[in-house]
Amino acid sequence: MVTLPWWKSLRECNISARSSAVTGFQSCRVGASDALAAEITNVTGLKLAGIRDLYSSFEYLNRYYFGAHTSWRLRLMGNGSRRSITVLSYATRLFDRVFGTRTSAYGWAFYFGNIEEAIEPASWSNVCVGCGCGSPAPWLLATNAVRRYLLFFKVYNCPKCGTPNFFTSDEQRSPQPI
Ligand SMILES: [Zn+2]
Repeated sequence: MVTLPWWKSLRECNISARSSAVTGFQSCRVGASDALAAEITNVTGLKLAGIRDLYSSFEYLNRYYFGAHTSWRLRLMGNGSRRSITVLSYATRLFDRVFGTRTSAYGWAFYFGNIEEAIEPASWSNVCVGCGCGSPAPWLLATNAVRRYLLFFKVYNCPKCGTPNFFTSDEQRSPQPI
């Protein structure tokens, strides 16, 4: 176990002698993932094997968590209804694609050391608003889980819980470290 300063905004940092995965929050600015990974490598001596962006389900905005007295900000966003969370999740992903931001992302998964199995290079942007389960876009397409909705939109039902979600394509992070 390696302890890093709190301002690195790390949620967890379980680093073994050979390999590990570390998750960092989005509070670091864009591009900071490489600097954070380099610092972890400096501290641990473990070489970075891969980075994946992690996307939010926004399930934490569900009204279920706030009780009867929700804030005006949550009421503005549909009062934490499943429908409003679904629209927010899709809208942030579209916003990110157009403006190059990370409003739908909450952090990264870092892989260090000698990872013997293949590391999935693509980030899974399709994260269920009901259960938080991530699904790779190519797999959803290959299994015919994606269908048209109102002509323009693509949707899929979560393979784990069946909740309907908007579908977005996955973008590969570049470049992947060796
Ligand atoms: Zn689900």
